[in-house]
Amino acid sequence: MKIRLGSKLILVFAGLLLAFTLGLLLLLPGFAKNYLQELNQKLHFSLAENLVHKERLLSGDTINQAALKSIFDTLMVVNPSIEVYLLDKSGQLLAYSAPEDHIKRHQVDIEPLQRFIAGKSPLPIQGDDPRHPERLKVFTAAPIYNDQNLEGYLYIVLGGEAYDSIRAMLANSYILRITVVMITAIMALTLLVAVLLVRLLTRRLQRLAQHVHTLKAGDLTGDNPPQFVHSPGHDEIDHLARAINAMSAQIHHQISQLKLADASHRELVANVSHDLRTPLASMQGYLETLAIKCQNLLPESCQNYIQVALRHGERLNTLISELFELAILNAQPARVQRECLPLAELIFDVVQKYRLKAEEKQIQLNVAVDTRLHYVSADIAMMEKVMENLIDNAIKYTPGQGAIQVRLYDTEGSVVTEVSDTGDGIPENAQPFIFDRFYRGDHRCKSDIPGSGLGLAIVKRILDLHDSAIKVVSRTGLGSTFSFTLPAHTAPARQPLFGCDTNVTSS
Ligand code: ADP
Repeated sequence: MKIRLGSKLILVFAGLLLAFTLGLLLLLPGFAKNYLQELNQKLHFSLAENLVHKERLLSGDTINQAALKSIFDTLMVVNPSIEVYLLDKSGQLLAYSAPEDHIKRHQVDIEPLQRFIAGKSPLPIQGDDPRHPERLKVFTAAPIYNDQNLEGYLYIVLGGEAYDSIRAMLANSYILRITVVMITAIMALTLLVAVLLVRLLTRRLQRLAQHVHTLKAGDLTGDNPPQFVHSPGHDEIDHLARAINAMSAQIHHQISQLKLADASHRELVANVSHDLRTPLASMQGYLETLAIKCQNLLPESCQNYIQVALRHGERLNTLISELFELAILNAQPARVQRECLPLAELIFDVVQKYRLKAEEKQIQLNVAVDTRLHYVSADIAMMEKVMENLIDNAIKYTPGQGAIQVRLYDTEGSVVTEVSDTGDGIPENAQPFIFDRFYRGDHRCKSDIPGSGLGLAIVKRILDLHDSAIKVVSRTGLGSTFSFTLPAHTAPARQPLFGCDTNVTSS
């Protein structure tokens, strides 16, 4: 059976309230009785003592019957619920106001009397009721002395038989009944308020649950994530609503990201297949021609065909390697092996590798580095790749007779590396895209400059992994400058590489 949260709360609350009301009704008479006894005993606290001081009631074995009768009569008139007993010092009844046949015990325990007389114990104190073999009653008592000798006690039982019968009568009284009715009414009203409150609270929870249900069943792929409209308050339900709204916004965002990733994945596959197919088709074409016409072709033409096929093969190889490299760099987590690296040394090595290529195009390749080694914390192989791609691009996109300058300098605790060329530059509208995978400007259409469109994407990814950014400043017809900054690293204790004070320029 399905019981709603609100019903469960109401049931538990009603149960508790019922138990509380019953407990209160059961305990109430006991508390009231105790209160009345205490009140009665406090009211009559000095009564016995006053009477004892008024007249001598006992002298040895002789009882002052006249004085005693006068006390019995007076008290009977003033307060019929009081019963007076004269006791000897052991608690034996010597005289009493009650009729003889009502007396059920002639000896009372004097220990409660002594406690009462000492006045140190909390009230009410109960003593034996001579009219009943077991019953206890509140009382007032006073010792009777004869020349310092204790002769006996005046023992007055408060709330005697008359008091009991009146109390029994009052039990059914209007006041008591009205009290019970009032308590029941208050409890019923409390229950009603509780039911309304629970309904109010659970209604908000129900609306929230309904919203989560719609989220579960509904579509999170729309333009905006579905939001739950809640009050601007700060209670737990408002917090929960806010958390659910934040969660659905997050899921919506992640779905959008996944969609973007999916679109970019499709584009990647399309680009890869296109870029692989083109050189492959060319290579196949040249090889087929060679296979068919080999006998009829001049040896120089044959050689030419083979060279072209080889170039396409090389292009394919470069493309596949760069794709593989980018895939590794994009893998999570990418592994960066940082170490203290003298960047100047590395730059000289890379420049050396490209010197021949630059000379073939009659391009000046200059390096401007001061005497220091410019230590940075970086992955050597990755930094080598960055420099290779930047210098390779500079050579590719700079026409013959041009110049390339590689600079390395310190600024505010950082090391800046710059590769500038006097090439054609990059149009302003193309600059935001040159770091995208497979972007090739208008070189994609022209086959004059070979390339995969992956070089700068690799550079960007490597520098991202080193918490650095690649910057480009380029003007069409004037050339481009690519630069990046790495935090300087403290140099290890070793000799500087270059022994001169001025800037070292190599070409
Ligand atoms: P590619 O294999 O085409 O060189 P890259 O990712 O290295 O691919 O570069 C992307 C594009 O950025 C190039 O196709 C080119 O249009 C432009 N580019 C990169 N470097 C330079 C440069 N130094 N001068 C002019 N254009 C450049």
